[in-house]
Amino acid sequence: MAEAVGAGTVLITGTTSGVGLHATKALADRGWQVVTANRDPVRAAAAADSLAIPSAQLSHLRFDLADLDSVRAGAETLVASLGRPLDALVINAAVYKPRLEQPERSPQGYEISMATNHLGQFLLIHLLLPDLERSSHPSRRVVILGTVTANSKELGGKIPIPAPADLGDLAGFKAGFQGPIAMANGKPFKPGKAYKDSKLCNMITTQELHRRLHGSTGIVFNSLYPGCVADSPLFRHAPLAFQRIFPWFQKNITGGYVSQAQAGERVAQVVADPAFSSSGVHWSWGNRQKQGGRQFSQELSDKASNPGTAQAMWEESMKLVGLA
Ligand code: NAP
Repeated sequence: MAEAVGAGTVLITGTTSGVGLHATKALADRGWQVVTANRDPVRAAAAADSLAIPSAQLSHLRFDLADLDSVRAGAETLVASLGRPLDALVINAAVYKPRLEQPERSPQGYEISMATNHLGQFLLIHLLLPDLERSSHPSRRVVILGTVTANSKELGGKIPIPAPADLGDLAGFKAGFQGPIAMANGKPFKPGKAYKDSKLCNMITTQELHRRLHGSTGIVFNSLYPGCVADSPLFRHAPLAFQRIFPWFQKNITGGYVSQAQAGERVAQVVADPAFSSSGVHWSWGNRQKQGGRQFSQELSDKASNPGTAQAMWEESMKLVGLA
C-alpha cells in the first residue's frame, strides 16, 4: 500500500453496504474521519459497526440523494455542524433497477436512477465545492464511481443489452426530464440503460469538473472503475438467477471479480494515496484481475470525454437541480 498523504475528513455517499461501506473502513484504517451520507443514518451506523469501524472516526448524516431538497438540507447541516472543511468527497451511492416496467420517480419527478446516481450528487458536489476549497489539505480530491458498462472504449461498455450508454442529443434533459420523459435521450424507457446513462453522466461530470475547476481550485477530480463487485447488493433488484450466476461467472470465466473489500480499498487509494494525485483521470485496474495488477489511466469513450456533450450535459443538469 502506498503511503497516505495525511489523513483528513472525507464525506462518502452510500455507505450502508458494498463499496461505500468498505471504502469507509479502508479510509478509517488510514486514520481519516469519515462523514457518511445515507438516507438512513441508523442503518449506516449499524453497517459500520458490523465491520468494527471505530465510531469515534465516524459521523452519520441523513441525505436522500434522490431528493434535491434532502441534499440541500443535508449539505447545510454538514457545513454548519462539522466545524472544519471537508478534504475529500466520494460520490458512490447508486441504485440499479433493471426490472422496472415503468419509471420510478424522485420527489422532483425525475427518473430514479438519473435522480439518485447523477442529479442529486451533481447538486451535492456543487454545494460542497466551496467547503472543499477552504480545506488546507495538500491534496483535496473529489472521487466519483464510474463503471465499465458506461464506457464503450471497453468490452463491457459495448454490450448491447438493453442498449449501450448514450445520452444522444440530451433531448430528455432539454425537455425537463419530467414524465412521460424518463431517458436522457427522450426515447422510450429502458431501465438497464437508465442506470448506464446515469453512470456515463458520473464520468462526464468528473471530466467537466476537471476542465472547469482543477486549474482555479487545485482540487483533484477523478473517477474510477473499482472492478466487477459481482456480489455487492447493487444487484439486489436483478433476477435471483442472475444474482447467483453472475459472481460465479465473474470469478471463474471472466476473472473480473473483485471483492467488496478490495473495491473499497481501491476507492481509498484514489482518495488518499500520492500515486493518485493527477486530476482528470479515470482509474481502472482492468476488466480481468491480475495478481498484483496495478492501476492505470483508462481511456474513456468519446461519449464520456467529448467536451461539447459534457458542456451541454453540465448546463442542462444545472437547470434540473435548480442552480441555473
Ligand atoms: P450497493 O451495495 O447497493 O451500495 C449502494 C449504496 O447507495 C447503498 O449504501 C445505498 O443505501 C445507497 N443509496 C441508494 N439510494 C440512495 C439514496 N436515494 N440516498 C442515499 N443513499 C442511497 O452498491 P455498490 O456495488 O457498493 O455500488 C457502489 C458504487 O459502485 C455505485 O456507484 C456503483 O455504480 C459503483 N460500481 C459498482 C460495481 C459493482 O460491480 N457492484 C461496478 C462498478 C461500479 P440504501 O441502503 O439506503 O439503499
